[in-house]
This record gives sequence, C-alpha cells and structure tokens, in this order.
Amino acid sequence: MTDRYQQFTTSAAGKLLVKRLGLPEPTPLRRFKSGAPALEGPVLVGGAPGGRLGDAITTAAKAAGLEVQTSAPGEGSSGPKFGGFVFDATGIKTPEQLRELYDFYHPIMRKLGASGRVVVLGTPPETIEDPLELVAQRALEGFTRSVGKELLRGSTAQLVYVATGAEDKVESTLRFLLSAKSAYVDAQVVRIGTHGGAATEPEDWNAPLAGKVALVTGASRGIGESMAEILARDGAHVIVLDIPAQGGDLAKVANRVGGSSLQLDITAADAPQKLIEHIKTRHGGIDIVVHNAGITRDKKLANMKEGLWDSVIQVNLASQLRVNDALLKQKVLRPNGRIIGVSSIAGIAGNTGQSNYGTSKAGVIGMVDAFAPKLAEYGGTINAVAPGFIETQMTAAIPLFTREGGRRLNSMMQGGLPVDVAETVAWYANPASGAVNGNVVRVCGQSLLGA
Ligand code: NAD
Repeated sequence: MTDRYQQFTTSAAGKLLVKRLGLPEPTPLRRFKSGAPALEGPVLVGGAPGGRLGDAITTAAKAAGLEVQTSAPGEGSSGPKFGGFVFDATGIKTPEQLRELYDFYHPIMRKLGASGRVVVLGTPPETIEDPLELVAQRALEGFTRSVGKELLRGSTAQLVYVATGAEDKVESTLRFLLSAKSAYVDAQVVRIGTHGGAATEPEDWNAPLAGKVALVTGASRGIGESMAEILARDGAHVIVLDIPAQGGDLAKVANRVGGSSLQLDITAADAPQKLIEHIKTRHGGIDIVVHNAGITRDKKLANMKEGLWDSVIQVNLASQLRVNDALLKQKVLRPNGRIIGVSSIAGIAGNTGQSNYGTSKAGVIGMVDAFAPKLAEYGGTINAVAPGFIETQMTAAIPLFTREGGRRLNSMMQGGLPVDVAETVAWYANPASGAVNGNVVRVCGQSLLGA
C-alpha cells in the first residue's frame, strides 16, 4: 500500500535520476490538516461580463478564510504564487466570448502555486435554450479538462455548472474544491441544481455533520474505514457495517471513531429490515448512507463461473437498491438525507477481467441517475464517487506492472489515498450540499482511463 517509487523520487539520488531519465515526478499532494489554511496563497477571482456568480464566489472564498483578489498581477510581477484562480463564465453566451477564458487565464498560468486550484463556473448546457450559448457553455468542459492536463505539481482544474436560481447554493462545493480536501479530484464536472435537498448552512463548518447519523458499509478497512473517520471528524455518529468475519477490525474502527458497529452481510435477504430495525431502535432515523461495501471477483468472461458474476452484482449493486427501497419506503432516511454510492472508473472505462465488476459499478451510476429525481422529491440527494487507483489492500493485490500502470496513468502520476474518496463523500454529506444531486465525481487524479 506504499508507493515506493514516489518515495524514491523525493530522495536526493531519486531526484537526480528522475531528471536525467525524464521519469514521472509525482508531487506529494497537499491534504487537509486541521488548522492549516485551505490553500497556500490568495485566490484570484475573475469573470466574463454579465456573469451571475461573482458575489457568490467571493462570499464563499472569504468564508473559507481565503484571501480574495480581483485584479490580476501585472505582466512580469514577481509576487507570491496564487492558491487558486476562479472564473465565473456564466456571462459567456457565444463561442467568440470564450476568449474571456483565454484573456483571464493565459497571463497568470505560471503564477499558480503547488497544489493550486483552477475552478471555472458555468451554466448547465442542458438548461439553456439558445444554441450559441449552449455551445459556448458546453465548450467549458474541454477547457477545464485540458488545463487539468497542463497543470503540474499537484494542481487541479474543475468545472462547476450552477443552475440559474442555485447561485446561493455554491458554498459547500467551492469550499471543497478550493481546499486540500479535493487533492485527488481533478478535471471533474460538478452540477449544482435547483432540485434536491435544502442547502442548509451548518452552524460550524468544522463540524458540519454534528447531530447527524451516518452509515458506512464495508467500513472495517480500506476506503470505508477512512470514510468513517472523516464523517466522524465532521461530527457525525457513524454506524460502521461489515460482514461478521470482519467483526474484530470493525469493532476497532467503531471504537476509534466513537461510533457503533453492525455485523451484517448486506446481501442477506433480511439485511435491509435488520438494518432498519437497528437504525430505528438506536437512532430513530438516519441522515447519511454510504454504500461503500464492494468486492471484485475478476475473471475473463469466458472463464467466469456464474457465482462470481452473481456475488459481485449482489454486493456492489442489487443489495444497495434493496436497502434504498426500504429506507425510503419506511421513511427511515431523514429529510435532507443523503445516499452516496461508490462506483469506479472500471464502471466508466471498463476493465479486462472485470465484466461483472464494471457492470455493477456502471449500475451504481444508473442508480444515481434513476433516483436523483426521487430523492429530490423526498428532500434529499443521491450522488456517487468513482474512485480511480486508490492505495488499498484491493489495489495492492494487483500484479506489479498492471499496478504501476494504474498508479501513474493520471495527471497526478500517483495513486490516491482512501482519505481522498472520504473527503469527497463528506462534501456530498454536508447539509449545505443539498443542491448537489445526481453527480458522479471521479476521484482519480484525472486518470487517462475512460477520460
Ligand atoms: P476493501 O476490500 O478493502 O473493503 C471492502 C469492504 O467491504 C471489506 O471490509 C469487506 O469485508 C466489505 N464487504 C464485502 N462484502 C460485504 C457484504 N456482503 N456485506 C458487508 N460488507 C461487505 O475495498 P476498498 O478498496 O476499500 O474499496 C471500497 C469501495 O471502493 C468498494 O466498493 C470498491 O469497489 C470501491 N473502489 C475501490 C477502488 C480502489 O482503488 N481501491 C477503486 C474504485 C472503487
């Protein structure tokens, strides 16, 4: 689970060799530390004339403790590097006006510090009637994805489409993207809409989940364990769930995060009801459900026994739908509740030997698509994360050369950590993220797979 190559590249001998041979040089990513500033350096905010998000961007950035600047430094100035560049592109109505992006970003690109952030905000193309404006807004995606590939030293670029009417609901997303919490989220398109739960500002942004109850399945180790830690850090009581065979490790996680444990095979026919009884008797209801439990049973389709197919579909997809159904029908998910799925880039790009897994993980994306309108009616949200290569026991088991490929073939030239997925889940779970509904955000460092 350690990236020995990256450790080597930070040694004196390693640095020399990497330079001489032109080898990949992954920059250690800056991750969240309590008390540390969200970004190193001020944020420069700009926008095309007629944009509608300038005030919302400035308010959110200032609330996050960031220093906001609105005029770019002169050509050739040698001031400190910037922590981020945010551009309101909602005023761009024609392809010619896309030049506004060039005019803002071109002179300042060399002034972005390490682990810096580029964020562009636009209007969701699917909500636009005028064809020229739709084309121009759709074009923003190619801009941010390309910039993401050009940025070095752990910096990221994202596009946030904000529906008209959702201008006051951007804060939790900007706080996430303009911070070290989004270290391994790169070149993603986030949609903030007008349909979803309420975007309720937390009393304390350092403990936004205070008073909330969260469930994380498959939480005895790996990514689920980290999700439990981060949701607990943010103030939630976390119920960690895993199969009975993992009971020992599960209890340790529950104790460490001050939560409670539930040993349950999520695929058992009576699992949804057992889960609901547990939640109802102990907590009355639940606010956040993270369907993290997942398995791989890899074989090429020609060699795959039916049991390998069935078990993966059951754990990774079918059981989750049964649990959701019970939670919603019996109203155990509280208003402004969150359902969060865990997909995978294998569900987007496909993977040899993973027809069962890829099917199940693409199904998780389908689950988000199908249920986002229903959750909006209910007053909650459903979203998913799609991790790329994350350093866990699951990926440590991959043969060396395939593993090195998966690890390096992304803009960060390294694997992500479980905490990177967990921070993304915590952003979805935030009560202020009520307008973030129906998203699938990849936590993959802009992996080349399925890009
Ligand atoms: P992991 O194998 O370390 O953890 C998965 C956990 O799920 C285990 O503790 C396991 O006991 C539990 N689980 C399995 N079947 C269960 C069942 N029937 N009922 C209850 N719990 C069950 O895996 P991980 O790497 O931490 O992955 C977590 C999630 O992230 C999975 O859904 C996985 O598919 C997904 N993912 C991981 C990566 C990666 O790079 N590690 C990439 C993409 C997606």
